[in-house]
Amino acid sequence: MDHFHTQNGVLHCEDVALPTIADAVGTPVYVYSANTFRRHAQVFREGLKDCGRVHLAYAIKANPNLAVLRVLADEGYGADVVSAGEMARALAAGIPAMDIVFSGVGKTRDELTAALAAGIGQFNLELEEEGEVLADIAAAQGLVAPAVLRVNPDVDAGTHAKISTGRAENKFGIAIDQALAMFDRLAGRPGLNLRGVAIHIGSQLADLAPLEAAYSRIGRLVADLRAAGHMIDRVDLGGGLGVPYRPDDVMPSPADYGAMVARVTKGWDVELMFEPGRVIAGNAGVLLTKVIWVKPGVTSPYVIVDAAMNDLARVAMYDAYHDFVAVEPTGARMMANIAGPVCETGDTFAMGRDIDVVASGDLGVFRTAGAYGATMASTYNSRALVPEVMVDGGRYAIVADRILPETILAAERVPEWLDT
Ligand SMILES: *Cc1c(COP(=O)(O)O)cnc(C)c1O
Repeated sequence: MDHFHTQNGVLHCEDVALPTIADAVGTPVYVYSANTFRRHAQVFREGLKDCGRVHLAYAIKANPNLAVLRVLADEGYGADVVSAGEMARALAAGIPAMDIVFSGVGKTRDELTAALAAGIGQFNLELEEEGEVLADIAAAQGLVAPAVLRVNPDVDAGTHAKISTGRAENKFGIAIDQALAMFDRLAGRPGLNLRGVAIHIGSQLADLAPLEAAYSRIGRLVADLRAAGHMIDRVDLGGGLGVPYRPDDVMPSPADYGAMVARVTKGWDVELMFEPGRVIAGNAGVLLTKVIWVKPGVTSPYVIVDAAMNDLARVAMYDAYHDFVAVEPTGARMMANIAGPVCETGDTFAMGRDIDVVASGDLGVFRTAGAYGATMASTYNSRALVPEVMVDGGRYAIVADRILPETILAAERVPEWLDT
């Protein structure tokens, strides 16, 4: 459930009419509903009520806006970060270092050092050498790094190949059959408190079965590790729960997910860590855009909007579907293609889709754009970096400025040898 709804014929985010935001901030612009973030955070937590000790680390790559992080910090969420930049955001939002998990297959030595200095709560190790280096850095400073091994359980998550992470050939994690021996070698090192295992098999999962298969494998690994004498008190179950993008999509609910987790992890006696991203952020945001032209096409007209693939990359990257609705629908429908101004055929949001009738100057939104939206934006075609607005009840604020092409240009230099 989200807080985007039509009131007196006009689409609102909570109590703010979207044309108000378009007038004040311009388009394209991402619009977030603070109360939808809060609700999703609460529903996800509630779903895990029978899962014992639980730690929630919002995967901030889904939407790292500082205001979003502050809302989730207030809901008691920690953060899953994948770079020093994300760690800095989490800390700036007031998330305690102890509640931060550092994931990622390419953490640099500088990043490991910075995260140790910050005192983050957990390093998710991706390879043996990373564990050795982290242990050495920590030991040299008289510190102990809390860590878990990320295991690749070799399951097919049944999602888009580009967001599938848990198959043997993917770059992520340690092959599950090597985990025990690696644990033996790393666990005794000074500087490292190796206390558990982690998995994350992919994103936008529409089915709980692959997750259940992966969690069952992890359960057997935990038993093997304990039998080998290791202390295991944490298992990180990752993120990945899908969200409905199409009006008729049916996704497992957080309650369904939590029931499965409770059943599979019964008796594990560990703190369970979760790293939800999309399920918290996806339906908490829309991309608000204005129609520039309606251009006749061979089959259907092209609705050319002022948002493009540089603002919302998911369609070009993952063939993703984003619902498009008019902000002030008349009730009439049309068949149309929807595309942005960027000079790439891939800059097409929909082909041959039944949509609300829109004309030049009308406002529309791409729905379910709160996750992996603004965070992937670029300035391709020397377009502005898209701004972000947060609505909270009847209030709204710009929570990320539009970065203008002039600002980007001002950071570029022509070397003096060309400047004659
Ligand atoms: C991306 C990612 C997540 C979040 O995935 P969602 O599908 O957005 O829930 C969690 N953990 C790790 C390690 C990730 O890379």
